[in-house]
Amino acid sequence: MMTGQEYLESIRNMKMHIFCMGEELETAVGHPILQPSLNSVRMTYDLAQDPEYRELMTASSHLTGRTINRFTNLHQSCQDLINKVKMQRILGQKTASCFQRCVGMDAMNAVYSTAYDIDKKCGTDYFRRFKNFVIHCQDKDLTVDGAMTDPKGDRSLSPHLQQDPDLYLRVVERRSDGVVVRGAKVHQTGICNSHEVLVMPTISLGEDDKDYAISFAVPTDTEGITMIIGRQSCDTRKLECSCLDVGNCKFGGVEALTIFNDVFVPNERIFMNGETQYAGLLVERFAGYHRQSYGGCKVGVGDVLIGASALAAESNGAEKASHIKDKLIEMTHLNETLYACGIACSCEGYQTPSGIYDINTLLANVCKQNVTRFPYEIARLAQDIAGGLMVTAPSEKDLSNPATGPFIEKYLAASSSFSIRDRLKIFRLIENMTMGASAVGYLTESMHGAGSPQAQRIMISRQGSLEKKKTMAKALLDIQ
Ligand code: SF4
Ligand code: FE
Repeated sequence: MMTGQEYLESIRNMKMHIFCMGEELETAVGHPILQPSLNSVRMTYDLAQDPEYRELMTASSHLTGRTINRFTNLHQSCQDLINKVKMQRILGQKTASCFQRCVGMDAMNAVYSTAYDIDKKCGTDYFRRFKNFVIHCQDKDLTVDGAMTDPKGDRSLSPHLQQDPDLYLRVVERRSDGVVVRGAKVHQTGICNSHEVLVMPTISLGEDDKDYAISFAVPTDTEGITMIIGRQSCDTRKLECSCLDVGNCKFGGVEALTIFNDVFVPNERIFMNGETQYAGLLVERFAGYHRQSYGGCKVGVGDVLIGASALAAESNGAEKASHIKDKLIEMTHLNETLYACGIACSCEGYQTPSGIYDINTLLANVCKQNVTRFPYEIARLAQDIAGGLMVTAPSEKDLSNPATGPFIEKYLAASSSFSIRDRLKIFRLIENMTMGASAVGYLTESMHGAGSPQAQRIMISRQGSLEKKKTMAKALLDIQ
């Protein structure tokens, strides 16, 4: 396995095409807006080296028997699924942000079992190829970006009916040695600090959408791939060299609009090619795993926010007020409910025909549906407890300025147990997590990541066994 430092060097050695705020970057490494994102992924490497976390952070490859980072593992049991959620909670606690590496892990597990199913039915050669790809990622300890979300254009039209056929990623040329693809994937979390990108279709597809039923993996510095980094609220504070004003200056997540402009994919890296009937299954499996993931990562981030809120209350001298205590209880209740869902859908997992384990789909969707709501309520309560200073406090530069600093020290003093600087740090962290750059990961991603709320409601309605429940009521009432 790589160390954190080796991970950074390995990304620095790649020649990706990254644009950020109008400029092409040599590398994401060291860039003030992107480095926090690398630090978050780096934590997945550092913790795997730490004896305290080894058990959760590593696994034994069922393909090679070698010790691997759990982020490259294919789940061999319900315990593996549980350990995954626990690992994600710890990483959320350590980074208070999206640490990005789960998307690839979830995509690898989804493609693995689906490639197996396609081969069984269609006599294709995807499973062998995919196993080779997995072994490559495990042995080199790579970070893989899972790329699912297409721009989707006019939502009322299927891919081949779009005015611009590239609004869903598709095959534009078939050659004897591979295919050429064109399109884009939006909201690509962490792609600029990933080694490989594993592409999947984004929706169920019909017969006419054969060219869109494509799954493959290529290195992120493959010719034709361009990443355009997305803006985040308050992102330019990272350019101001003020750790205090950023709130969480160590860690973050970053997303990119990722263009595939006639990218060549060799046969060995193609894992679905035209099998439209399996696109929906692949989407469902990936979404299921990622909906489980949120019962871990968002809970860990929530732990930090609850802790920051309790500190804010103490720094205000308000920690003994009964309504403050009750709000912290409510935040904890909501947060642990999410964790309960993440653990439950793991415990009730099942073995797929490929041998690896998948989560309980209904419970994973309930998990994610709660995630679309509870972090918003936890964030609301955090802002309630923190008070207005979270958004009206002067800058660190004003605190350091002899003309203004003493006034800030004098008039923003509260509990004598906290220095003004520490007090402001706490407020800024809450600001960062509930409305600043990290709110992308904690809130908007909770809403839309792994599918928007309606996507989960559709799955819940499909999995809810309503007919069975009606039969139960009828049986009790002797209704025929
Ligand atoms: Fe991992 Fe959570 Fe980020 Fe998804 S949102 S990549 S599960 S940390
Ligand atoms: Fe996500």
